[in-house]
Amino acid sequence: MSKRKPDPLQTGTPFPFPTIGIIGGGQLGKMIAQAARKLSIPIAILDPQPDAPAVTLADTYIQGEYSDASAISKLAAVSDIVTYELEAVNVAALKEIVASGTPVYPDPSVLETLQDKLVQKQLFASAGIPTSEFVHCAAPSQAAFESFGFPLVQKARKGGYDGRGVCVLRRTEDAADFLPADSILERCVDIEMELAVIVASGQHGDISAYPVVEMTFYKEGNVLDTLISPARISASIETQARELAIKTVRALNGVGVFGVELFLDTSGHLLVNEVSPRPHNSGHYTIEACATSQYEQVLRVLMGWPLGCTALLSPVAMVNLLGVGTGNTHVEGLETALGIDGVSIHLYGKTKVSPRRKMGHVVVLDQDINSALKKAAQVRECVRVYGG
Ligand code: ADP
Repeated sequence: MSKRKPDPLQTGTPFPFPTIGIIGGGQLGKMIAQAARKLSIPIAILDPQPDAPAVTLADTYIQGEYSDASAISKLAAVSDIVTYELEAVNVAALKEIVASGTPVYPDPSVLETLQDKLVQKQLFASAGIPTSEFVHCAAPSQAAFESFGFPLVQKARKGGYDGRGVCVLRRTEDAADFLPADSILERCVDIEMELAVIVASGQHGDISAYPVVEMTFYKEGNVLDTLISPARISASIETQARELAIKTVRALNGVGVFGVELFLDTSGHLLVNEVSPRPHNSGHYTIEACATSQYEQVLRVLMGWPLGCTALLSPVAMVNLLGVGTGNTHVEGLETALGIDGVSIHLYGKTKVSPRRKMGHVVVLDQDINSALKKAAQVRECVRVYGG
């Protein structure tokens, strides 16, 4: 199949628009597909689960694992452009479809760099991007930890997400809990605040950062708990964080939408923690609170269209709705929550609940950020997504 390339600025984009193939049909894929519906862009989804959140919004569904080269090649056969909504994708298969003529954004080589925390940190270091000090530790052991020095953070090089694959070792006695995996050891940062910036980087060198968000995490499991924007930081830190996030994405040479996670340490320095080559949980809020959502931005990048305005239209708070218990999905408390001014609720449509699974999120718009935070806490009190 010959691929159709959008050329909107010269000759108009032929309609129907080129089909975008997305590897992964989770909530991020669903929200990209929702943005695609608005613009009438056809979507193909590859996911092992036929009831994955994005599948009902797809024009074409391919069943298969993210690691399955033949499924990825089937997706490419029905798509003009391919992207992915998760990192656990077969990079060699992506490289093959690029070689046979289907563009993939971000480029598979960018994903390859980010899949390996060691290679990612080495890239930060060589590009002069401030990041916590680190060493490679192929075979973690008490001796290796002692020689690096406590407190430290051990991170498996590959396969971790939402805190899985990360282990904070504060003292010698904690070392019993280490991960037996090829790892990096990082200096433990005295974190004042965890921040994130979504960066959109277009095909024509255009690049744009969203406002900085401030995040708190559930201690257990390290999943995002509450997010607010604007972050409670000075204008100077806001500017530095956005510039640093852009510099990081430029260093990766990435075309796409990226989530850049940063630490502000207690001495006021910014450090880049990690980058995701896809829309990010910390950018869900952009649907209601920004002029252009991170999801529409993905489409603009893939189609070669101009990037949208990233301005924040209102102060915002966001909380994740995490599953309680195990079993078929039940939701309670929606009516009460929807009665609160400025509340918008997303339910991803996952039919099964497991403990702490991301089942939805809540966005609260309010001119007063403290009031937004209070309402978000109220919603989390009354909405329960549980398995039964
Ligand atoms: P994941 O890829 O699983 O999200 P992260 O690298 O984001 O892993 O780490 C998860 C959390 O662990 C961070 O949000 C932060 O709270 C903590 N953390 C990670 N690295 C450090 C560090 N060097 N110093 C202190 N805390 C850290």
